[in-house]
Amino acid sequence: MKTKILILGGTTESRQLASALDERFGDNAQIISSLAGRTKNAAPIAGEVRVGGFGGEEGLASYLKSENINLVIDATHPFAEQISNNAAVAANKIGVPRVLLQRPSWQLPENCDALFVPDMAEAANIVARTARKVFLTIGVNELSAFEGTPKVHFVVRMIEKLRIQPGLNDFEIIYARPPFELADEKKLMRDHDIDALVTKASGGAATFAKIEAATSIGARIILIRRPPPPDGDIVSNIDDAIKWIEKSINQF
Ligand code: NAP
Repeated sequence: MKTKILILGGTTESRQLASALDERFGDNAQIISSLAGRTKNAAPIAGEVRVGGFGGEEGLASYLKSENINLVIDATHPFAEQISNNAAVAANKIGVPRVLLQRPSWQLPENCDALFVPDMAEAANIVARTARKVFLTIGVNELSAFEGTPKVHFVVRMIEKLRIQPGLNDFEIIYARPPFELADEKKLMRDHDIDALVTKASGGAATFAKIEAATSIGARIILIRRPPPPDGDIVSNIDDAIKWIEKSINQF
């Protein structure tokens, strides 16, 4: 019988994993990638794709049971805290092995002016006190934390077209999709005279250039700390995820 593997996705790594599993296990496994459905033009993914929430941890547990899922790989974004916690609880409840594939944190350049903060509210406080021109690369959901910040011009970078304009006092929006190159990031920050970058401490190679660029122009980097991962197995790359799957299959 085929091993049914659910990948909780929405990241570059989750797409790479789907391709790697397709190649490694071929017809011996059924690979299902799950997306929240936030992105309109999601990149192609190997194997099957399902879209939309499960209905909390209960809904996910029901899905795992009714679809006879054998293994869960949580390859969601490090800041997708809710779905990761739901996956941990649901898989544990149903007795399905689960692993978190979490990309390594960035190794910050030694000479950077970096400040870690717990949340966007604290980032907004620091920005209000210390910055004039701020590059915001935080996604759409938490822009409101910066509303009402006086005397700051925000350069907001988005991947998806915004449906509603942000309520920031003074801003412009740039649309672009990673990966980003160092030379382009430097030019963008220089052209906009950026003195602070606000970003989640997401990790990943595709967006690291902004950290290097901010360092090279002397801009402060305000990083939102990652939420803690749920208890359980963690791997940090695709090879180790495959090894975890092989080990789990051998234990069936
Ligand atoms: P979240 O806050 O952790 O999850 C909120 C709800 O969205 C979950 O409870 C679940 O709904 C649904 N959901 C999230 N990921 C899902 C998935 N892969 N498949 C099916 N349902 C999912 O998630 P988020 O931070 O909004 O992120 C949503 C998606 O965008 C994730 O897939 C994540 O990998 C990706 N992403 C997030 C960020 C970020 O900064 N947060 C950045 C890049 C990509 P139900 O409770 O109804 O199941």
